Formats: sequence, structure tokens, C-alpha cells
Amino acid sequence: MHSELEPDRATRTLWAKGVLDYLDDFIDGLPAAPASWDRAAGASAAATEPPAAGPRPLPELLTQVDGSVAAAVETAGPGYLAYFPAGGLYSSVLGELLAQTVNRYTGVASTAPGLVGLEQSVVRWFCRQFGLPHGAGGLITTGASLATLTAVHAARTARLRWPDPKAAIYLTEQTHHCVAKAARIAGFTDDQLRLVPVDAELRMDVAAARAAIERDRAGEWHPFLIVGTAGSTSTGTVDPLPEIAALAADQGLWLHVDGAYGGGFQLTEYGRSLLAGVELADSITFDPHKSLFLPYGTGVLLVRDQATLRAAHSADGDYLQDLVRDPGLPDFADLGPELTRDSRGLRLWLPLHLHGVEAFRAALDEKLELARWAYDELRSDPHLDVPLRPDLTVIVAHSTAGDDATRRLLDRVNAGRRVFLSSTRVAGRYAIRLCVLSHRTHRDRVEEGVAAIRAAARRM
Ligand SMILES: *Cc1c(COP(=O)(O)O)cnc(C)c1O
Repeated sequence: MHSELEPDRATRTLWAKGVLDYLDDFIDGLPAAPASWDRAAGASAAATEPPAAGPRPLPELLTQVDGSVAAAVETAGPGYLAYFPAGGLYSSVLGELLAQTVNRYTGVASTAPGLVGLEQSVVRWFCRQFGLPHGAGGLITTGASLATLTAVHAARTARLRWPDPKAAIYLTEQTHHCVAKAARIAGFTDDQLRLVPVDAELRMDVAAARAAIERDRAGEWHPFLIVGTAGSTSTGTVDPLPEIAALAADQGLWLHVDGAYGGGFQLTEYGRSLLAGVELADSITFDPHKSLFLPYGTGVLLVRDQATLRAAHSADGDYLQDLVRDPGLPDFADLGPELTRDSRGLRLWLPLHLHGVEAFRAALDEKLELARWAYDELRSDPHLDVPLRPDLTVIVAHSTAGDDATRRLLDRVNAGRRVFLSSTRVAGRYAIRLCVLSHRTHRDRVEEGVAAIRAAARRM
């Protein structure tokens, strides 16, 4: 029986072709597309009307979608050098299409052991890449924020009698705000967070962390969690992970490593040496929607001991009594806050297998190389002050003419609409921030961006 909600094959083919044709044009148009849009032009209002009672033709709807897509920073294009560009791999989109169409339930293993096994194979592979031991495990989440929340709850379940208003968490001013946010959601108050000082290169001062922990213990606080960052959001800086790990081991603290941005570089030889010590973490977050070029919506949490996630997150209900536990496969619902979840393995599994790991390694090495080149160029410019040698692919710079000039410099570069940069603050000074990370950004666009920055700097 035909129903409006179950189109026949010819209709499905027609619709799919309409969408895929639109996407092919979109992708082919990216190199020429403006890097940002004219805010004054606004977004098409047509797409926000309420749905009609009857059907409307797909081409008309795609036109409306296009109006909404256009009102945006071009985050998918090669000129996007702001925040953390990832591009959005097409192969991952196809993996997602497969996953959503077969619509398997992956909250528990017994309803879809095949796709849960496939997802677990990706998690296991990541665990090995990070050097975690046998017994490690994890979870694919929607992003690092949710992964961090999941980890904070696991850490306190493992290390504290809960509730504990005297529990203390150690981070730095450079730690991503999602850690403080996760702590707040989990019920910690601001006075349980300790901001450990950073050194001149913005890395955690581990001696100061040790002193703070010892002072707190003497004051009857209960230090239980320390967060090291493997690639800070502001400047891409990597904390001294081996020293933090030694301190955590010595003091019995849970070590969480935030590799939301930097974690993907673990696939490269350079990244592995830079992130040495990450293998000592109790939990690690990283975002394939940053440094593995995936579309937004994919984060990963890895833990040294999968049992710590289960201890914190497993729950049960009468309506789940039919489920059979598979000792070989995890029930993902027991490892994190979500019950019903989409099948998240294919969006990673398909690109990794279709392109091969070497393609990712080569692309990440290319980004590192481009960032080093941009750093050398900008550093040699007498009108710019480039305070930090980049650990990864983030470069920050000031106009030598001061904060206002740096602000105007950013506006001028972005107004060209060939690249889009963001800003940050470094040691109290306003800085432009350039991040090379999209799989679509290559030498030509980085050269164009650097030339635009230098031209603008000269005029400040
Ligand atoms: C982006 C980022 C986060 C937050 O990740 P989301 O995926 O946006 O939730 C956490 N930590 C660092 C270092 C980040 O760069």
C-alpha cells in the first residue's frame, strides 16, 4: 500500500537525486563561495513558516533550504580558518545516510550486535591509537562537551563518596569551558574548581598544581580530578602531559586529557610524540568533528577502564527485562547518559575504511606543515607580533599597533570574504587567531589568507 509517509522506489530515487544533485553543486561551488556572508542581507524567512497540511514539492523546499544554508559563515569551505574547521567529509555523510536509513537501535548490544560490534571496533581502534591498555573502552558521543560530562561523572563515581562538597577539580585558565560547565551540571560549585597558573607558553605549571593539591589536602579538601589539555582551544597549546600524569598518579587523582582538538593528531608521528603521556590518562576526549574532518555531531570519550563508565552510568528498568547481555559487546546506554541513540559507528567506520588511515595521516601532516609555513611568514612581518610557536595548527598574532588595530585588522581580512578568521586573547591582548584544519584547506588558500593578513597589517 502506498502511503504519503512511505514513498515508492521511483519517488525515493527522484528525491535522493534531487538532494544529491543539490549537494554536488554545493561541494563543487565551495572554492568560489564567499567565506562569510553579508549579515545585512539576512536569512530567507520563507523556510521558517509553519508546515502546511498537505505535501509540497521537494524542489521548492530545496530552494528554501538553500536560502537558509546561504545565510552562514562558510564553515564547509576552504577559507574557513576560524575556531576549529573540519569541512565535513562526504564519505561520513554517506555512512550517516546508511546508519539512519537502516535505523538500528544501538543503545544496547542485543538489538543490533552487528552495528554495535562495528562501532566498538572503531572505539577499540581509537583506544589502541592512544596507547590505552586492554580493558579500555569508550563511547561515541555528539561532541566533546557531552563526552566531558560523561567523564566527570565517571571520575567522581570512581574516586569519591558522593556527594562531596569538599571535592576539588584542577584545571587552568586555558582549559575549555566545557569542563567547568560539565562540573556545574554534575553538581559541583565554582569554589570546587581550582585554576592552576600557566607558564609563559600557557602550559599548566605542574609544580603550582602540586602545591595547590597539597594545600587543599591540608585544608581537608578532597582533590580527585585533574584536567590536562592536548591542544587548547585558544592557542592549540599542549600541556606537559607526562608531568601531569605523574602528579595524578602520585596524588591518586583521575587524569582527564582534553584532546577535543589535538587528539586527532595522534594518528601522525609528530602528534604521537607531542601528545606523549596521553596513554596514562584515565579518560580522553577527542572530536572527530574537528581533527578527523567529520561533519558536526561526533565526539569520542575513551577511558582506561571501561568498567568505570559502566559503574557510573548503568541503569535499569522493568521494560528492559527482555534484553540479553552480550558479554563480548558493550551496551552503550550503560556507558553514558543517553539511552536511545543513533548508530554512530558508520559515520567513522566508512571514511576510515573507504579512504584508509594513511589519507587521514597525510591530511593532518599537511595541516601541520601549512600552519608552520603560515607561522614563519607572519612572524617575519615587522607589522605583526606572533607570540607563540604553534604546537599544532593554531596561530595567534597581534598588530604591533595595539588592540584596536588588531581588531580592525581582523575586520579587514574577513571583509575580503576569501578567508574567515576568529580572535582570542593572549596574555590579556587581543589577537587574531588562524586555524588550519579543514580537509579542504590547502596551500593556495593559506597563502591567500596570509597575504591578506600582511596587507592589512601594513595599513594599520
Ligand atoms: C571544541 C572543544 C571542546 C568542546 O567540544 P564540543 O565538541 O564543541 O562539545 C572541548 N575542549 C576543547 C579543547 C575544544 O577545543
